[in-house]
Amino acid sequence: MSTATHEETLGFQTEVKQLLNLMIHSLYSNREIFLRELISNAADACDKLRYAALDNDALYEGDSELRVEIEHDKEANTITLRDNGIGMNREDVIANLGTIARSGTAEFLKQMSGEQQKDAKLIGQFGVGFYSGFIVADEVAVRTRKAGTAASEGVEWRSKGEGEFTVADIERELHGTEITLYLKEDAKEFADDYRLQNLVRKYSDHIEVPVRMPKTETAKDDEGNDIEGSEVTTWETVNEATALWARPKSDVSDDEYKAFYKHVAHDFSDPLAWSHNKVEGKLEYTSLLYVPGRAPFDMYERDGARGVKLYVQRVFIMDDAEQFLPLYLRFIKGVLDTRDLSLNVSRELLQQDPQVDKIKGALTKRALDMLKKLSKDSEEYQTFWNTFGSVLKEGPGEDFANREKVAGLLRFASTHSDTATQDQSLADYVERMKEGQQKIYYVVADSFNAAKNSPHLEIFRKKGIEVLLLSDRIDEWLMSHLTEFDGKSFADVAKGELDLGDVEDEAEKKAQEETAKAKEDLLKRVKEALSDGVQDVKVTHRLTDSPACVVLPEHEMGFQMRRIMEAAGQKMPEVKPILELNPEHPLVARLEGAEGEIFTQLAHILLDQAIIAEGGHLDDPAAYVKRLNSVLTA
Ligand code: ADP
Ligand code: MG
Repeated sequence: MSTATHEETLGFQTEVKQLLNLMIHSLYSNREIFLRELISNAADACDKLRYAALDNDALYEGDSELRVEIEHDKEANTITLRDNGIGMNREDVIANLGTIARSGTAEFLKQMSGEQQKDAKLIGQFGVGFYSGFIVADEVAVRTRKAGTAASEGVEWRSKGEGEFTVADIERELHGTEITLYLKEDAKEFADDYRLQNLVRKYSDHIEVPVRMPKTETAKDDEGNDIEGSEVTTWETVNEATALWARPKSDVSDDEYKAFYKHVAHDFSDPLAWSHNKVEGKLEYTSLLYVPGRAPFDMYERDGARGVKLYVQRVFIMDDAEQFLPLYLRFIKGVLDTRDLSLNVSRELLQQDPQVDKIKGALTKRALDMLKKLSKDSEEYQTFWNTFGSVLKEGPGEDFANREKVAGLLRFASTHSDTATQDQSLADYVERMKEGQQKIYYVVADSFNAAKNSPHLEIFRKKGIEVLLLSDRIDEWLMSHLTEFDGKSFADVAKGELDLGDVEDEAEKKAQEETAKAKEDLLKRVKEALSDGVQDVKVTHRLTDSPACVVLPEHEMGFQMRRIMEAAGQKMPEVKPILELNPEHPLVARLEGAEGEIFTQLAHILLDQAIIAEGGHLDDPAAYVKRLNSVLTA
C-alpha cells in the first residue's frame, strides 16, 4: 500500500511461533477449518459492534446491516473475508494478532514435550483461531479500522507466518476487518465458489450473521449466449443465518449442534452431550448447554474463563457470563438467550439481579439432568467422569439444594472391584449392601493404594462389606458435606466406634467384650507407655492381619484434610489418635509378655507403624528407626 505510514516490524510472541509451526504440520489433513475460524471471528466482531452500538448508534457509521463477505480471486490465488463488525485499532491488532490471548493455549505450548507425534493430536484441543489462516496461506494481510474512529486510523497487518509481522497505518473508509489470504500452491483448491459455499454451509449455518458471496449473472440473448457487458454481481447469503438456538430442536441435526459447540466453546473436538431448551412462562429463556469432551487447561484456575455466552433478545451481551451456573459446573459451555434481563445489563448488574438466580437455578437443573442422561451410557459417562469428576465433587459442598442429585452422579473406586477406576455409583453400592448393613462405608487416604491397603478395611473384607476407596484431594471435604444418600448415612471406617450394624451378631459382640476385658491390664500399660501420643488404647475388632491401627474420634477432622491444611500453612491443633490393638496378633502377644524398656519400645513401634500404614508422617522418624533397630537386634 503506497499510503501506508508508520510501518513497524514486530516479532511474534514465542508461543505464537510454536503454535504456527505445530498447526501447519498437524492440521494438514483438516485444513478447511481455517474458514470456520475466520468466519467465527468475523461473527464475533459483528456481535461486539451490535452490543457497543446499543449505547451509541453512531458506531454503525450508517451501516447497521451486519454481515460477513467472502470473495476469491482465482487468478491471484486469494481469498478475502470482510466484516463490518467492531474492527481493531493499532493496539488491538498488535495485542490480538501478535500474541496468544487464551491462557490455556500458551500454557499448553509451554508444557509441550516436543514429540511432534503426540503434540499433533493435542493441538486439536484448542481453537487455533486467527492463525489457522496460515495453514492454507503463505501470506496473510489484515486491513481493519475500529468502528467510530476516523478513516485515517486504519491499520494494516501483514505476515508470512514466519516469526514476524508488520503493522502500518492506512486510510480505510470502511470500519470492520478485511482479511486476505494469499493461498499456498497446494491450497489453490479453496479459491473456488463451490468449495467455499460448501464450507460456509458446513461450518457457519448456525451463525446468525449472514455470510455472503458474490454471484455474477449474465443476461442471455435469444439464442442463449451471454450478452457482453451485461454482467451483474449480486451478493447472495450462503448460510442459513439464524441463530441455531432459536431454531426448533427438531430442525437441528446432530452435526449442526456439534459445529455450533465448536464455535461457542472454541474447542476442536466434539461435545459429549447437549441440552437445548426453550422456556416460556414466568421465566423466558432459551438455553443450549454442552458437556465438553475435554477439559480446558485453566479448569482449576480461579480466574479461568467459564460460564455461558449471554444474549438478551438475540443481542449478544457477553462471553463467559459466569453467574448462571454454579462453580462446580464450570466445565459446562453454551448459550443463554433471555428476555428477562435488560439489554444494558453489565457484569456488575448481573450480580444484583434477582432474575439471575432464578435462571441459574433452572440452568443448574438442566445441566444436572443432562449429566444424568449421559450417565446412562456408562462408557461416555466414564470419559466425562475422568475429565470432570473432581470438579463435580465440589457440588455437594456448594449446592445444598441439589446435593442428592449431585450425589447420584458421583463415581467412586471401591473394594467391589478394587481397581483405581472411579466407576461405582452410590446407587450401585446401595444395591449391593449386605443384609443388616445400615451405612455406606468409606476410607480416605492420600493415594489409591494407601486406601485399598488400609488396615481399617480388614474386617470389612472379611465380612464381605463393600467400602468406597477415596483418594482424591477433595474427597474428605466432599464426604464432610455428603451426609446421606437414599436414606443411608455415611461412615468413615477410620473414625469413631466401629459399627457394622446388624451384620455382626450378638455372639460376636459378646466375644469382643470378653477379650476387651481380658486385656484391660495390657491396655492400661500401653496407655501409660504412650501417654503423650494417644488419647486412648483399645482392643480392636477391625483388624485381621495387622497388629494395630489408629482411629480418630467421630467428629475430628480426618488425616487427609489435616495434611492439606498443614501443607497450605494452616496451623492445626494437635489431635491424639486412639490406638487399637489386635489381640490375635503375635506382635501384640509379644508386647504383652515384655517388660520395662522393651515394652515401651514395642508400644511406640506399634503406634508409629499404625500411623505410617495410615499414610501419616511421624513427628520423629529417626526415633522410630532407632527403636525398631534396637528391638530387631535385641
Ligand atoms: P479468539 O477468537 O478465540 O479470541 P482468535 O485467534 O480467533 O482467538 O482471534 C484473536 C483475537 O483477534 C480475537 O479475540 C479478536 O479480538 C481479534 N480478531 C480476530 N478477528 C477479528 C475480526 N474479524 N474483527 C475484529 N477482531 C478480530
Ligand atoms: Mg476465534
